[in-house]
Amino acid sequence: MADQNSVVLRGGTVLTLDAQHTVLRDADVLVTGDRVAAVGTGLAVPEGTREIDARDGVVMPGMIDTHRHMWQTAMRGYGADWTLTQYFVWYYLESGKHFRPQDVRAGNLLAAAEALDAGVTTCVDWSHGLQTVEHAEGAADALRTIPGRYVLAYGNIQQAPWEWSASADFQAFARRVLDDDRLGFQMAFDVTGDPAFPEKAAYEVARELGVPVTTHAGVWGATNDDGIRLAHEAGFLNDASIFVHAATLSADSYHRIAATGGSVSVSTESEQSAGQGYPPTWALRAHNIPVSLSMDTSVWWSGDLFSAMRTTLGADRSREHFEAHQKGDTVTHCSLRAEHVVDWATRGGAAALGRSADLGSLEPGKKADVVLLKNDASPVSFPVLNPYGHVAFQAQRGDVHTVLVDGRVVKDEHRLVGVDLAAIRREVEGTVEHLRATLGEEAWAKGMNPDVPATKVLDNPYTYTDYASGATHGG
Ligand SMILES: [Zn+2]
Repeated sequence: MADQNSVVLRGGTVLTLDAQHTVLRDADVLVTGDRVAAVGTGLAVPEGTREIDARDGVVMPGMIDTHRHMWQTAMRGYGADWTLTQYFVWYYLESGKHFRPQDVRAGNLLAAAEALDAGVTTCVDWSHGLQTVEHAEGAADALRTIPGRYVLAYGNIQQAPWEWSASADFQAFARRVLDDDRLGFQMAFDVTGDPAFPEKAAYEVARELGVPVTTHAGVWGATNDDGIRLAHEAGFLNDASIFVHAATLSADSYHRIAATGGSVSVSTESEQSAGQGYPPTWALRAHNIPVSLSMDTSVWWSGDLFSAMRTTLGADRSREHFEAHQKGDTVTHCSLRAEHVVDWATRGGAAALGRSADLGSLEPGKKADVVLLKNDASPVSFPVLNPYGHVAFQAQRGDVHTVLVDGRVVKDEHRLVGVDLAAIRREVEGTVEHLRATLGEEAWAKGMNPDVPATKVLDNPYTYTDYASGATHGG
């Protein structure tokens, strides 16, 4: 035992996220090798075990993001004022094609480091900038460099899915990654709703490779009920299907998703700003569709799941109140609880990825992906009265004290371990310089600053009197 790496987190409030959602106070989590060995109070540990003081902290499973365009992190914050329209024009039509393999790599390195820093131990990289297999090698190389757990969801917005998925290069790449147990694999493409259903060929490749398909679904103006109906009727929907957003959809689509066991990745910050539709958790709950959470892209938003949990609770409760007020009713009890969004950020993500057996909770035998939230210097760190509420509404990424992935400490006392941030900064700067030079200053500035539509200020019946001069207007 002593020669196996072991770590114990001592004396924290432990959110196990087991099936009963057991919460333990003043409890320990013992990690041996790559697994959780024990969870309980006053645990005896092997000699040589590293002790981490978790008192006044919250210990929880590593968080899981099921949808993030990691390559776009090199453009952090550039599109803060975009809608989906500007996003599509910039990435899909105009500038996305200028990203070289090293630019995809640079974005992925930064996104992966950012995820770990925020306690996101598993992240699905919805990588739709893979114009060539060299780009895919750049993406995969970055994910192998940073010591988190990743799923490469392969996509290419510069070609139709039935084109890129048919290429021998793609298929050989996919088979190489499928042999790599540190990196999961999915196929990422969208279904337009064309009645001829040309995406069928891409689904067949996914079936042949035995990999899940993840699609942007229910995105206002882009994908709708037809895509879900066509894929369902052709028999391609199953419990590994991940539908991202699923916001602008009819009940019929939700029934098809629920009946085939698929799940929805809700990116609330994205849906609220970009315009895919109202964040759908209120409807997903009604249709009993499993939910996981995601951040979508750092070209607009934060890359941490604390924001995702907070905005998702806000959007769901806001909708519930709004619907009730339309009927003259009052909501006296919230349906969606802090506990639910913490579950979605952990267990929900594991279930979406088919990893419930070994990820998403702190139980003996599971993979040791562990997060300790603790920040003794922060006045927000106490009292921890309602631990789920604390995680969802009070905590933030600066409170992530310790992160373990596969039993290995990758963040230690608020500092990433074995991540060369200075080197990543140089690579990202290279990408920004390349894009800025390629686009030219005018297009660069224009892309970042879309026109602001004029706001028509309504006539105000109470402005008859000019109080400053004492004059009276109008007649
Ligand atoms: Zn997306």
